[in-house]
Amino acid sequence: MARLRFATVWLGGCSGCHMSFLDLDEWLFELASQADVVFSPLADVKEYPENVDLVLVEGAVANEENLEMIRQVRARTKTLVAFGDCAVTGNVTALRNPLGVALEVLRPVYLENGDLNARIPDEKEIVPILLDRVQPVHAVVPVDYYLLGCPPPAGRIRAVLEALLRGEKPMLEESDRRFG
Ligand code: SF4
Repeated sequence: MARLRFATVWLGGCSGCHMSFLDLDEWLFELASQADVVFSPLADVKEYPENVDLVLVEGAVANEENLEMIRQVRARTKTLVAFGDCAVTGNVTALRNPLGVALEVLRPVYLENGDLNARIPDEKEIVPILLDRVQPVHAVVPVDYYLLGCPPPAGRIRAVLEALLRGEKPMLEESDRRFG
């Protein structure tokens, strides 16, 4: 049987969902026996590859880099799982939305409360440009499954991955289904 090409992606999130993934502990060896990790912040791969079977996407779409990344991920992946509440709803990452567009958030931080030479960072290659609104993943690209939690507990991540590894639809809990 062909090995699954598996990826994880970190957009606008705190990495807590990836920490929960690492809480799978010894089951990660089981995963490694069936899947190749072709892209992840946990692996030293620079570019998202073609022909990925399954990806867990942590975080919301908060800046131009996230936007470019999620479009590329969607185009190159069969099954995309919105992984954790930030990916599913915007959650913590989207708390800035009620404050206004990006400039309204940046101005008080970098200009009004800046000291010498106050300026908003605009080196695109170093600091990604913020989008005016943070968006959940499904608002930007189609999502196949939703895995709720902040972060999702390791047991639930395992249950979803085990089903997908068997080629079955995961039995999501009712709270997850509301977004599916
Ligand atoms: S869902 Fe929670 S744990 Fe995951 S990235 Fe967002 S804030 Fe962090």
